[in-house]
Amino acid sequence: MKRDIQALIAEMTLEEKAGMCSGLDFWRLKGVERLDIPSIMVTDGPHGLRKQQEGTDHLGVFDSVPATCFPSAAGIASSWDRELVGKMGVALGEECQAENVAVLLGPGANIKRSPLCGRNFEYFSEDPFLSSEIATSHIQGVQSQGVGTSLKHFAVNNQEHRRMGVDAVADERTLREIYLASFEGPVKNGQPWTVMSAYNKVNGTYASENKFLLTDILKEEWGHEGLVVTDWGANNDRVDGLAAGQELEMPSSGGANDRKIVEAIQNGQLSEETLNRAVERILRIIFMSVDNKKPNATYDRGDHHRLARTVAGETMVLLKNEENLLPLAKGKKLAVIGPFAQKPRYQGGGSSHINPTQIDVPMDEIKKLAGDSASVVYAQGFHLDRDDLDAALMEEAKQAAGEADAVIIFAGLPDRYESEGFDRKHLHMPSNQNQLIEAIATVQSNVIVVLMNGSPIDMPWIGRVKSILEAYLGGQAAGGAIADLLFGEVNPSGKLTETFPMKLSDNPSFLFFPGEGNRVEYREGIFVGYRYYDAKEVKPLFPFGHGLSYTTFEYSNLAIDHKTIKDTESVNVQVTIQNAGSRAGKEIAQLYVRDVESRVIRPVKELKGFAKVELQPGEKKTVMMTLDKRSFAYYNVDLKDWHVESGDFEILIGRSCEDIVVSDTVHVESTVALKSIVDLNTLIIDLLNDPQKAPFVQGLLQKMQEGMGTMLEGLEDSESLGEGSSEMFEGFINYLPLRGLSMMSQGMFTEEMLNGIIQQLNNPS
Ligand code: BGC
Repeated sequence: MKRDIQALIAEMTLEEKAGMCSGLDFWRLKGVERLDIPSIMVTDGPHGLRKQQEGTDHLGVFDSVPATCFPSAAGIASSWDRELVGKMGVALGEECQAENVAVLLGPGANIKRSPLCGRNFEYFSEDPFLSSEIATSHIQGVQSQGVGTSLKHFAVNNQEHRRMGVDAVADERTLREIYLASFEGPVKNGQPWTVMSAYNKVNGTYASENKFLLTDILKEEWGHEGLVVTDWGANNDRVDGLAAGQELEMPSSGGANDRKIVEAIQNGQLSEETLNRAVERILRIIFMSVDNKKPNATYDRGDHHRLARTVAGETMVLLKNEENLLPLAKGKKLAVIGPFAQKPRYQGGGSSHINPTQIDVPMDEIKKLAGDSASVVYAQGFHLDRDDLDAALMEEAKQAAGEADAVIIFAGLPDRYESEGFDRKHLHMPSNQNQLIEAIATVQSNVIVVLMNGSPIDMPWIGRVKSILEAYLGGQAAGGAIADLLFGEVNPSGKLTETFPMKLSDNPSFLFFPGEGNRVEYREGIFVGYRYYDAKEVKPLFPFGHGLSYTTFEYSNLAIDHKTIKDTESVNVQVTIQNAGSRAGKEIAQLYVRDVESRVIRPVKELKGFAKVELQPGEKKTVMMTLDKRSFAYYNVDLKDWHVESGDFEILIGRSCEDIVVSDTVHVESTVALKSIVDLNTLIIDLLNDPQKAPFVQGLLQKMQEGMGTMLEGLEDSESLGEGSSEMFEGFINYLPLRGLSMMSQGMFTEEMLNGIIQQLNNPS
């Protein structure tokens, strides 16, 4: 329905307008009855609905209405499946419609800077391209149902430690290439109805009052049309926030901040235009929700549970599978060990905590698929609420394991180890679990470990078990999905979206995480995740992109449609993938781009494309990925823009970031000449590297050499200076500032002449 929002704003009193800028209560926005502006409801998110009817809180303490709990973000991203994530989004949108919820508070697109961050399970990846693609699909899916999303937590919210006070300090290139890039795609391509600003400060200013983030970048550069909502209770100074582009404060401030807004307008601190613009954005979202409301909407819980099982099956990652222990044949004698087999850990703690419609118990699902003649016994093995060993439970588990053909150990992190609100201090699982796995391995050689955790752990026992399935926090159908994978009903196809380090200290943020007091400096810069492990040649436990299948895939026929392009053009890359095994399966082809030679510091390679394909045994399919300027660019802080250096770029396609199988090269020509102002302190090397200026400067050097006779040549060849003297001479000249020419030439270049040279270099005719 077409509405004149401006006319409506003109009818509103100052108080009504100020009132629109904060919540009615914990979950609802205010309405204005006399003007037929309704109140709408927002609810967590991101992988299910947490609609509370009684008892409200932002940490999932009070129960909510039953809803489907899909896998959490860490798993969802491991599917690398845009379409599947979109389908999950549609289901989430349907549940929102049925529950009369206007906006789902998610997805979270913060980068996994450290494996310790307590909310990593709610985030997608250490890589901004992958994170941004998956977030976009999530948003598009939910919003296709006429329900909004809230892309969160904008921005640089990468730890829970001191989350409402910490100042995340990062240079602009790092922000642009890593932390903001993860939000940029979803904003531009998904247009989330709302964006949630983060609790923390970014470079000295709270995210909720950061004009650079909320107005300059989000609204002006990226064109966000929706509203920005604070994280719950993040508001610091309401008037500063509003001026910076923070439209909505949640939850309610009980009217206190509305009064401050009115006062600020009355005393001239804030313009009424600013308030009107904020109200316009808020009203637009309210009416979008009204116009897209599906009356009497319902959903089928059974269908959504089945979808949750399909999604979960694609999110789990087979990390190791020696001697093809998996998939398990039917009819075996199996011992299943660990309390998670009876009571799975399928979601994380905090605001994303869902009250599921039903739960698949792994033990039951395993029994269903193990075959009629199978024997499946259960042993608890250890306690979840303690770290110390229970000798009796351990003995019982060893006994069961020793008598079985294979043993499946359910292990991972209990809630007390990992949640919203705090970060981990280490990567260890509780020691009783590690000890149990070691002990079982002494009596049974066929050990399978199924892990339930939200982010990487270390695995001191890795050499003693044959198979490891990373199930992440797989949602309410995780139990069924695990059984599907163990027995080969579903072929594993998930791949890691984060590096599993050998040890915590290998992680690039290790020295600076979680910072000093209220300040955390992102000193590792752009070298986050695999960008660091690659460059430093640090071997991880499992690399980014790793994940096994019960079949194998071969890559061939890499074809690039243009071997040379301008940076304004795009290039299509095709590759053929064949299922070389005897089972149907899905493969995720990963495309990385490497700048062969660069004057700026760049990662060895960066993910710029991926495609997931399903292949029957022997089947071949060709996938296409498109690269554009951003695929080759770095962020140039002087230019305040993305920039591609002219040169060759390798296109590397692989099964993981460590397993590159085919490659080729494309040449990209920059269409942007970098301008630099020449002065007395400009180094000769920078002038020689500039194709426009190089001939002139070479001429000058030539003149200087001639003018000084053979002295310079002699110096250049001098043996008395030892080996490498010509490099020394070259280095000496190259790193000389222009003013040094005067000294080098013993006065041949006067100050006046140098000034003339500088003028000529700055204004070439
Ligand atoms: C979390 C948000 C969440 C909000 C509402 C906050 O504590 O950081 O992610 O959406 O609470 O529950």
